[in-house]
Amino acid sequence: MSLFDKFAPLAAARADLGAHGTPPVATPIEDIISAAEGVIGGRRVILAGTNNYLGLTLEPEVIASARESLEHFGTGTTGSRMANGSYHAHASLERELAAAYGWPSAMVFSTGYQANLGSIATLAGKDDFLLLDSDSHASIYDGARLGAAQTIVFRHNDPANLDRRLTRLGSDASRALIVVEGLYSMLGDQPPLADFVEVKRRHGAWLLLDEAHSFGVFGATGLGLAEAHGLLDDVDFVVGTFSKSLGGIGGFCASPHAELELMRLASRPYIFTASPSPAVIAATRTALARVVAGSGLRQRLWNNIDKLYDALDSFGYRLGSDKPGPVAAIILPDRESALAHWRGLLENGVYANLMVPPATPKGLNLLRISLSAAHTPEHMDRIIQAFGQLQKAA
Ligand code: PMP
Repeated sequence: MSLFDKFAPLAAARADLGAHGTPPVATPIEDIISAAEGVIGGRRVILAGTNNYLGLTLEPEVIASARESLEHFGTGTTGSRMANGSYHAHASLERELAAAYGWPSAMVFSTGYQANLGSIATLAGKDDFLLLDSDSHASIYDGARLGAAQTIVFRHNDPANLDRRLTRLGSDASRALIVVEGLYSMLGDQPPLADFVEVKRRHGAWLLLDEAHSFGVFGATGLGLAEAHGLLDDVDFVVGTFSKSLGGIGGFCASPHAELELMRLASRPYIFTASPSPAVIAATRTALARVVAGSGLRQRLWNNIDKLYDALDSFGYRLGSDKPGPVAAIILPDRESALAHWRGLLENGVYANLMVPPATPKGLNLLRISLSAAHTPEHMDRIIQAFGQLQKAA
């Protein structure tokens, strides 16, 4: 017997996928050429499986801020926000995030994962209730595990199911925190946010919206799905990450409730970890300014989204979402065809994401494309041609 015995099924599943050639999980990226191109398996490919939605990772202005900060402040803060890890820049980024939403408070965490962990586990305490969408990201489920609230899971994107569960709570619904995402990254689908808001209001509950994949993508100033639907006044907490549209690493929770500040005193994933490095904060501040100011990046991303969704539709693929968005998830009948698609795309110079059970909802086998404002019209043509080659081969 060994502590490692329990990993045998996972090791077997991985070996199954990656026996020959470039592995489709934890694929080594040998070099980065631009925000849209890299080297995999020794060849130049279009990166169509990143979360670099606005392509800001290599933006000269963003890099310059990071470099200046790195040289002045050094590589790390070496401490927690509660001890020696609160520099002016951390507080400035929090003020800038709060100002973008027009809210009194925002807190910065070291990753988006920790932002969910630290917000969910802390906001919903021992006598409270958490209502989670069944397709929630692992960081949301882990937040529930770290905290002490009673957790109730409702059916994915189903406000009527949530309504029934809140009805059963009666007046306790005023101590219930509902968590939904602005864009679900596996299937690329969006929640019926206005319906969720209506249910939340009627029961006097609270709503946390994880805009990890929707921040920078939706809304006139890129704040996410709540902004796009004119529902910012109806959301109690927004969680976001710096690791997708903002091109860095870190996360945040922002709120129209000034009492969010109290969370700094109680949130373990905020208190017991080192704060983000100054260079990452500086890069994020510059990226945030770019996102909020507009600058045409979102329009470029949406042009690419419309082009890809139209093409995939014309090829007759079944997609995970009927509403176009930055993630296009192609549902394939089984693991073998998903793997063959993934390999076929790579051979045609396009890196996408293979997603298979147990990582996927409903046991689906998926090939995921995520788009970027950094994809040029030529990149888009090549991505679509690569699918055309697969169709011909089928
Ligand atoms: N929430 C959601 C919905 C996510 O998809 C992710 C990352 N995949 C996170 C939170 C965590 O963000 P980060 O990678 O910044 O830790």
